[in-house]
Order: sequence, then structure tokens, then C-alpha cells
Amino acid sequence: MKQALTFPSPPKAATALLLLIGYIGIGFLSIQFAILPLGNFSVIWFAAGCGLVIMLETGRFGIALVFLGSYVLNIPTYYVYLNQAGSKNAFLLALVSGVVPAAIDSWQSAMAAKAWRNSVRRNHHAPLQAPVDLPYFWLQICFIPALISMSVWHALLTLSQIIPYTSLANNLQQMILLIMGDTAGLFIIAPIYSSWKSGSLKSNFRPILPYLALLCAIVALGFSLYTYLMMLILPVLLLVAIRFRLAGTALALFVVFTLSIIGSTYHFGPFINKNSMVSFVNLQLFLFCVGLTLHYLALLQELLNQSHIQLEIEVANRTEALAAANQRLKELVTTDELTGVANRREWQRRCDEAIIYARRYEQPLSILLIDIDHFKEVNDQHGHLAGDLTLKELCRVCTTELRATDSFARWGGEEFVLLLPGTVQAEAMLAGNKLRLAIEEQALIKFNGETIKITISIGVAMLEDSDSSLDHLLNRADQAMYAAKAAGRNQVQCALSPATFTSR
Ligand code: GH3
Ligand code: MG
Ligand code: MG
Repeated sequence: MKQALTFPSPPKAATALLLLIGYIGIGFLSIQFAILPLGNFSVIWFAAGCGLVIMLETGRFGIALVFLGSYVLNIPTYYVYLNQAGSKNAFLLALVSGVVPAAIDSWQSAMAAKAWRNSVRRNHHAPLQAPVDLPYFWLQICFIPALISMSVWHALLTLSQIIPYTSLANNLQQMILLIMGDTAGLFIIAPIYSSWKSGSLKSNFRPILPYLALLCAIVALGFSLYTYLMMLILPVLLLVAIRFRLAGTALALFVVFTLSIIGSTYHFGPFINKNSMVSFVNLQLFLFCVGLTLHYLALLQELLNQSHIQLEIEVANRTEALAAANQRLKELVTTDELTGVANRREWQRRCDEAIIYARRYEQPLSILLIDIDHFKEVNDQHGHLAGDLTLKELCRVCTTELRATDSFARWGGEEFVLLLPGTVQAEAMLAGNKLRLAIEEQALIKFNGETIKITISIGVAMLEDSDSSLDHLLNRADQAMYAAKAAGRNQVQCALSPATFTSR
């Protein structure tokens, strides 16, 4: 959306030619359809807007292009005028006189472009992005350049008696028409340019066509059949402003302005007055009121859409952050901070579920209680950091040895637990022995240049019908583990049967 602050580099010849042709073409149409029956004034000088576009697209080089375009447009008008006035060298004189309006037109375009760039510099974005941009756009970019250039131009026309002086009021009316004509040209073309630059013109062009057709029909009927039908353009324009925002509004206003001018030029429609100057002032007033309101509405809608999008992005971001925080919280609640394996609470939860499942489907289930042998010595000889490293290494080895369905967790301190669903005691003993050997052979802890070797003792217990709770089962595993310790450590012992256990 945002446009660069720098002057564009000189255009390629093809671009320059295209812009020049566009300027001359649209200026020619303005002359054709918008000449007052008396006085030869354009009601809307769309070329003023084209001049601004050329300046913005081509930088300083644009002054030459606008000058050339305006010169080409003005010579025929001058020629016709001078010829009618009976001048002998009408063509030659037209060639010389054409320089003045061309210079004034390029001056006006340069002033409008300068105001545009000032706005970009100040707000760090192109004008016509938000409703707050509008007063500056209307006044500094459209009105003041037209006011200055057309006042000068009008004074020159009056002094050279190309505009015959009849009365002050009449003279002023003519000047106002010139100023309003150029203001309207900038007012209509600049939003089209802005939407073209932002890409919204292209994306909205097809969907807006039916609405433009509807507007054409209403204006045509309003001008030819029943004047008050014209009022119907208001709800349609409103719809266009809300649905297609600035891009749609800019095109719709261009269509409505052009058709209204053509109609009024040929004395049709609601704006006609005995005094044709008044007719066109009526028309301009109506068009400006509609245009200003719609610009405001379109940009307000743009702002609303942007806020809506921003809000959605914000909600999505927050939801994502919340999900991440929840995930982290879940990890904190379920994992052991030092080793990263499941913690006691999580293991107990899994065990409770597994026991219910095993009882219901009459499947075996075994648990292992693992304790590091002489772990105190590791701490005492190498320090707590080495002890921590040992605990991590044990977890690494154990988790690589286990199946996905097994649940390994830190019970606390240097004690670990393992849940083996669907496993009978004999298989659990084998699994325990596998772990014991893996730890003995693979757990290599290097700390401060020394290698620490550890062994583990394991108590195994299989779930029996008489195990009233997980604690009961754990107690039996604990007893088995102590039996392993008592028998010399680095070994696996199985629990006594519950009957024997309870009888002890
Ligand atoms: P045994 O063969 O009889 O099990 O001997 P042991 O030295 O392992 O005896 P005991 O189980 O009583 O000692 C456990 C030690 O583990 C005591 C404590 O300092 C240490 N310990 C407990 N938690 C941690 C820990 O998170 N980090 C470290 N470095 N040491 C811990
Ligand atoms: Mg212990
Ligand atoms: Mg120990």
C-alpha cells in the first residue's frame, strides 16, 4: 500500500509515450464533452488529474510531458478561436500562444505532485489511505494548485481579451468554473491512480462492472426520461463505496461525473438553468457533494476493513500464544525438569489408566522400580553437577531401550519407574535385565576428564488381582528393589506374590 518517498527515475520511452497519449486522449474527451456552449471552458478538466499522475510516475521529467500534452491539446482550440477572430496567421499565432496554457498546466501538475509528496513525507504513506487524509487531499492536492494556476490563467485570458469582459460577476463565474473544473479533474483521477497503485483497482475491476452499468442506466434515464430518477444513484454509490471502497468509488464517480457532464452539455438533466454557467455550477456542486461524501465513506470502510483484519491477526496471534503457553504448562506439569522424562504425577496418571484397562480386558501389567547403586558416592566424589549429568544419561539410555508403549518416569531423586502394559513378570524381568546391562555398558558419563560408571538395581512387580491400589503394587516393587540391593546390587529381583507380601 505504501509508496516510496523517492523521485522515480526517468521513464522508459514507451511509458512516457503511453502517459502522453493518455493525457492528450483524456484531455481531448474533456474538451469534446465538456465545453460550455459559451466561453469554451472545460467543466471538468480530467487532464489536470492525468498531469498529477504523470508527475508522480515520471518525476521531474513529467513537467516536459505535461507541457507537451497540454500544448498539443491547446493549439487546436487557439487555432479555432484565432481563426474565428479573423486573425491572418492564426496557425502560427496558435503555435506561439499555446505555450502559455501548457506552462500553466505543467506548473499546476507540479504543485499538485509536490503537495502529494509532502503528504507522503509527513505521513509516511500515500494520501487517500484513511479518512483523516481527505481534507489535505481535497484542499492541498486538488483545490489550491487549481486555484493558483487557474486564477493566473483566467487573468491572462481576460487581459488578452480572449475572455471578453462583460461584468465582474460574469467574469468571476468564469474563473470559478475554471478552478472547479481543474479541481474536479484532480479529485476524480487521483483516487483512481491511488487504487491502481495499491492494486485494489485491478482486483475490484470485474466485480464492479455491473454496478457501473447500473449507474450508467440510472444517469441515462435520469437525464433523458425523468429527472428525479437521478436520486437513485445515491444508494448505488453508497453500496459501491461500502463494497468496493476507494477503487469502486473512484470508478463510479468517474462514470457519473462524465455522464452528467455530457448530459448537461447537451441541455439535459436536473441541473439545467437559463444561464448555462449556473447549470454547470449546479452540476459541479452536486458532483462535489456526492464525491466528498463518498470519498469519506469509502475510506472509512477501508479503515474498518483494515481494523477488522488487524483484529483477526491479533486474535490469531494471541490464540497461538495461548496454545503455546498451554502446551508449555502441560509440559511443566507432566515432565521432570532435570531429565525431561515424565514426572511422578504423570506416570501415576498413566498407571491408573493402564491398571483400569488391564483389569477390564484381563491383561497382564508389570512395573519396574529402578534405583542407581551408590549414587551418593557419585555426588560425593564428583559433585552434584556430575550427579545430575548421570541422571540425564540414565534417562537417555533407558528411553532408547524402551518401546513406545512403555512409560518411563522419574519417581524422585535417583529413583525411576517403568510401566510395561501387557507384560507378564518373566518378560518384565527380561526387560529389566536388558536395561540393567544397557546402563552398565552404555552409560558413559564423562565429567571433568573422569569417566563415571554406574549400575542399577531393579525391583519388578506384576499386577495381581489382590493388588488393591497402585501404591500396593509399588510397595511390592520397592520390596523387590531392596531385595536386589541386599543381594549385592546391579541386579533385578521380582516381587513376592501378594499373599507372601501381605503375610510378611
Ligand atoms: P544405594 O545403592 O543404596 O541406592 O545407595 P545410594 O547412594 O544411591 O543411596 P540413596 O538412594 O540413599 O542416595 C540417593 C542420593 O541421590 C542422595 C541424594 O543426594 C542424591 N540425589 C537425589 N536427587 C538428586 C538430584 O536431583 N541430583 C543429584 N545430583 N543427586 C540427587
Ligand atoms: Mg534411592
Ligand atoms: Mg541409590
